[in-house]
Amino acid sequence: MSKRIAILGSTGSIGVNALRVIDALGPQYEVAALTAHNNVGHLAEQVRRYRPRHVALSNPAKSIELKHLLNGCGAEILTGPDSLPQVAALPGIDIVITAVVGAAGLQAALAAAEAGKRLAIANKEPLVIAGQLLTETARANNADIIPVDSEHSAIFQALQAGRPEEVNRIILTASGGPFRNANPDEIRNASVEKALRHPTWSMGPKITVDCATMVNKALEVIEAVWLFNTTVDKIAVLVHPESVVHSMVEFVDGSVLAQMGTPDMCLPIQYALTYPKRLKGISSHLKLDQLGTLTFEKPNLELFRALKLGFEVAAEGGSAPVVYNAANEAAVEEFLAGRIKFGRIVELIELCLDKHNVRPSLSLQELLEVDQWARQEVARASRP
Ligand code: NAD
Ligand code: MG
Repeated sequence: MSKRIAILGSTGSIGVNALRVIDALGPQYEVAALTAHNNVGHLAEQVRRYRPRHVALSNPAKSIELKHLLNGCGAEILTGPDSLPQVAALPGIDIVITAVVGAAGLQAALAAAEAGKRLAIANKEPLVIAGQLLTETARANNADIIPVDSEHSAIFQALQAGRPEEVNRIILTASGGPFRNANPDEIRNASVEKALRHPTWSMGPKITVDCATMVNKALEVIEAVWLFNTTVDKIAVLVHPESVVHSMVEFVDGSVLAQMGTPDMCLPIQYALTYPKRLKGISSHLKLDQLGTLTFEKPNLELFRALKLGFEVAAEGGSAPVVYNAANEAAVEEFLAGRIKFGRIVELIELCLDKHNVRPSLSLQELLEVDQWARQEVARASRP
């Protein structure tokens, strides 16, 4: 029987790549639901091409426009913020690709886990802020969580070579972003254009800025803690500018297993859909003889304070990652809107963390309140 797939955030960078992967995999993989937030034109185009049974638009302000564009297409159209969790839990769906950006994807990820779906999880922020709740919900409902983030897909693949107790450490690789060799002044005053110019990966704007601050790597450390049921002291970060080794696992006997590939999200997306099988796909194969030298270096934690803070927040746990993530999301929005300097992003995260008294565990409601509080603090501190 074919696998019926929902893509939450189908108009984004991961969403569009997921559709390319599904196209190439053939009729065994079927697009059953598509969702977006604002871009109704793009969503309507995808719906006409892939003919999913269900369509959802999380921003209710554009629902009339979407219904008009999809008049007569036959799909069930859901709108409003609850429409994503509704789609994620539909009985006709086997795999939910979470490709929404930010904490906004939390309720849908939880709904997919509760409904026992396979989660092909790209949207890392819900794991960062509610990793315990999300992984426990998945376990209780036999939902698999398969990583799409390239580093975590690499670790997931390498871990298959040993037992959990045989793992010594997880080594996350990082490209280092566009400011790897910049000086502190250049970083502090970097323009939006420069921050969006990633050297190796093509991605949505929020994660591209996160790569430039190295917040992305901090989020990935926390993501790894929950995905692989480990602790932060077992996770190291190495800067690897060529982005060929997507991450590594070191076992207790000293053996290090790396997963390699071209910097292309299609491969990890595909693996999350086909696991435990491997199928031919559209990712180009590595030409090892043309790669030249692969380099690895320690990250500069003084220059990239956001990564240092991320390790601290990961060790602290509780509400600390919620504050870190929400402050970052809000600060990145301010930066992309041209209201604050690049260097202010990490300062605003620090400011929120300084003001917050960390709580060891939170209900979903409390977690959402802390998230809102940090966003308001950032707005207050960055607008006149
Ligand atoms: P993007 O900005 O390109 O796309 C985001 C998608 O989410 C769009 O379809 C948009 O309509 C939808 N969306 C935006 N705001 C929403 C909201 N409030 N509610 C519901 N839907 C909303 O983002 P992206 O680069 O594709 O990243 C998606 C997620 O995947 C992020 O969490 C990111 O960290 C993660 N990720 C992305 C890449 C990559 O290569 N792009 C790699 C690893 C992980
Ligand atoms: Mg990644």
